Amino acid sequence: MIPNNFEYHRATSVDDALALMAKHGMEAKLLAGGHSLLPAMKLRLNQPGVLIDIGRIGELRYIKKEGNSLLIGAGATHDDIANSDVARNFLSMLSEAADLIGDVQVRNKGTLGGSLAHADPAADWPAVMIAANAQIELQGPNGSRSVAADDFFTGFYMTALEDDEIITAVRIPAPPKGTKSSYQKFMQPASRFAIVGCAVALTIDGGVCQKVSMAFTGLSDAAFRASNVEAALTGKQATEKNIADAAQAAGEGVTPMGDHFASGEYRLHLARVYARRALTAAAG
Ligand SMILES: Cc1cc2nc3c(=O)[nH]c(=O)nc-3n(C[C@H](O)[C@H](O)[C@H](O)COP(=O)(O)OP(=O)(O)OC[C@H]3O[C@@H](n4cnc5c(N)ncnc54)[C@H](O)[C@@H]3O)c2cc1C
Repeated sequence: MIPNNFEYHRATSVDDALALMAKHGMEAKLLAGGHSLLPAMKLRLNQPGVLIDIGRIGELRYIKKEGNSLLIGAGATHDDIANSDVARNFLSMLSEAADLIGDVQVRNKGTLGGSLAHADPAADWPAVMIAANAQIELQGPNGSRSVAADDFFTGFYMTALEDDEIITAVRIPAPPKGTKSSYQKFMQPASRFAIVGCAVALTIDGGVCQKVSMAFTGLSDAAFRASNVEAALTGKQATEKNIADAAQAAGEGVTPMGDHFASGEYRLHLARVYARRALTAAAG
C-alpha cells in the first residue's frame, strides 16, 4: 500500500501545468483530487515518476452560465456540483449524480475532470455528460479543442484525451424548453460506484416526448448512449406504458460486464429497471 517514489510539482495555472507536462513527458501524471490516481499508485497499478498537482488551480474550479451554455471547470469537485443551484437549475441530474458519488471525503476532493479522464466504467459522470450532450474542452501544447462526450469515452478506462492534454472544462448546451432530467443508479453498497447508472434528459411538449437523451454507465466497458431507448420513445406520448415499453430496449445489442458484484444478465435487467425509473422521474 506504499507507492513508488515520485517527484511532486504543484502547478499554479493551466499553462504552468502544460509546461511541466512538456518538461517531464510520459513520466508525469496529473494529480487532481487523487481519489482514483492515489489508490492506483498505492496498489502499484500506476507508477508515475512525477506528479503534477493541478488540484489548486483556481482557474479550473468554477460553475457558471455562459450564453446559453453551462460551463463547469474541470477542477470543480463533486461536492461543488452537488451544492450548485446554477447546475441544479440547469439540469437537475448534474447535482443528483454528484450527490450520489462516494462519500463526503470523495465528493470534497474528487473532481469532474479527474473522473472524466479516468473513465472508470462504473463512474457516474460519463453517462451524465453523454445524456447532457456535453462537450469536453481540452487544452494541449498546440491549443484547445473540444470533443463531444459521445466520442470521448472510447473503451475500458480509455478516452480521446491525448497524453499531453488537460481537460479544462465541460460545456453543456441549454436543453430545449420543457426538459427535465434524472440520474438513477443501482450502487455498489460500499463504494457507491454504479453497478448500473442511467442518466436521462427528457423534453416533453404537449404530453409528447419530443427529445430523449439517455446514457448508461456500469453496464459495459464504457459509458454509452442508449440510442434504442431514445428512438423507442421519441414522438410518443409520455405515458407509463410507453415509458415501460421503451425501457425494455435498454441494453439491447450491448455485451454487458459481469463481475463479483453482478452478472451480465443481472446488469441487463437493472438497465431496463433503471431506464424506466429515470424516465418516470424525468416525466414527473
Ligand atoms: C471510496 C471511493 C468511492 C468512490 N465512489 C465513486 C462513485 O460512487 N461514483 C464515481 O463516479 N466515482 C467514485 N469514486 C471516484 C471519484 O469520483 C474520483 O474522485 C474520480 O474518479 C477521480 O477524480 P480525481 O479528481 O480524484 O482524479 P485523480 O485521482 O487525481 O486523477 C485521476 C486520473 O485523471 C487524470 N486527471 C485528473 N484531472 C485531469 C484533468 N483535468 N485533465 C486530464 N487528466 C486529468 C489523472 O492524471 C489520473 O490519471 C470513488 C472513489 C473512491 C476512492
